[in-house]
Amino acid sequence: MSVCEILSVGTEILLGDILNTNSRYLSLELAKLGISVLRHTTVGDNHERLAAALTTALERSDIVIATGGLGPTADDITRDVCCEVMGFEMRMSEEIADGIKAYFDSKGYEMPESNLRQAYVPVGGDVFENHNGTAPGLGLKKNGKCVVILPGPPYEMAPMYKEYVVPYLAEYSDGAIVSHTVRTMVIGESAMAELCADLLENENPTVAPYAKKGEALLRVTAKAQSEAEAEKLCVPVVEEIKSRLGNYVYGVDSESIEERVVELLKEKKMTLATAESCTAGYIPKRITDIPGASSVFGCGVVSYSNEIKHKMLGVKNETLEAYGAVSEQTAREMAAGIRRVSGADIGISVTGIAGPGSDGTSKPVGLSYIALDAGDRQVCEKIETGRNDREYNRYVNGSRALNLVRIYLEEKK
Ligand code: ATP
Repeated sequence: MSVCEILSVGTEILLGDILNTNSRYLSLELAKLGISVLRHTTVGDNHERLAAALTTALERSDIVIATGGLGPTADDITRDVCCEVMGFEMRMSEEIADGIKAYFDSKGYEMPESNLRQAYVPVGGDVFENHNGTAPGLGLKKNGKCVVILPGPPYEMAPMYKEYVVPYLAEYSDGAIVSHTVRTMVIGESAMAELCADLLENENPTVAPYAKKGEALLRVTAKAQSEAEAEKLCVPVVEEIKSRLGNYVYGVDSESIEERVVELLKEKKMTLATAESCTAGYIPKRITDIPGASSVFGCGVVSYSNEIKHKMLGVKNETLEAYGAVSEQTAREMAAGIRRVSGADIGISVTGIAGPGSDGTSKPVGLSYIALDAGDRQVCEKIETGRNDREYNRYVNGSRALNLVRIYLEEKK
């Protein structure tokens, strides 16, 4: 059986300012994986003492999970010390740096330069996304030893543990771990969790909710003696979730909404065309990332200006004047227009305010309308993300427009 130690980092814990609930949580969870926790150690934010504690822990145990000290300030040293002790070089990840900047943008704050410390990742190590804060978690595996580094705040640490660390530790677990992710859209994380409240109490498989880029997801993780047995435990729970969440579920595991849409279009032998304002080409990019998309997608128009909305898509000037470019009426006419001019079976459109600035009206940033016109069905949805984050708003608008196509095709006889 693999053995593990938990290393809590933070002078606040030593002083008694905070109670070490992370260690308790991790011990309870690790037991479920059949991993024995041998020791809990706490050290302050001190380079030498942390390095010594980690070195000693690694002499005794296969796994060390460190929490805390991943913040942006000079006394947040866990990342550096763990990489140093395990012999991993660090480099800045542009992608994570952009993610941290976007996180601050979404909160309407300027990002302090010091936060870029959190974008340093170990070369050859693993990175765990933080959906509830800025500091990513890290995983270091070398010579049979494993160090996992998680943020201190419990509401960041626990979801990261469930989503990434459980599968990361599979090879150390006594038995097999299988996990599946049910992916939903439109329903929010809390409404989804409410519909599955009893399942969230499950011991095996565990069911954990989380949110990511406008989607709400449920991760089902089972542990058993063999992979087949773990899979058997997961199946009925995944099926139960799918039946409770119905149409909100667009896929299971890694399938993206664009993959699902391309697959359905091929299956139904139908074609799609797009008319976009604020997403400006984002949707065709995502669709054509899928190999073989050319058989179902032939045309996308970026109609950023009102003039093009009118000239190319036939949106009426009266509509634009009376309701504005960001309106249900305009979205509907754009979808009908692109369907007409392209000859595709289905037309979809997006018009909205991605931010950071408004469109000069009283309409809020994050407001969008997405529409679908398929001849036998016309639909329009209003989206209000409430976030001043251009990248996020564009991504969510694209996903939601594709989701309209998915629902239409799944329901089509
Ligand atoms: P941040 O980015 O917020 O600075 P961090 O990863 O650097 O996060 P710390 O600065 O060590 O984490 O701790 C931040 C907060 O997280 C603490 O003030 C405390 O509220 C909580 N926290 C840290 N460690 C623990 C723990 N072991 N148990 C419970 N709560 C903890």
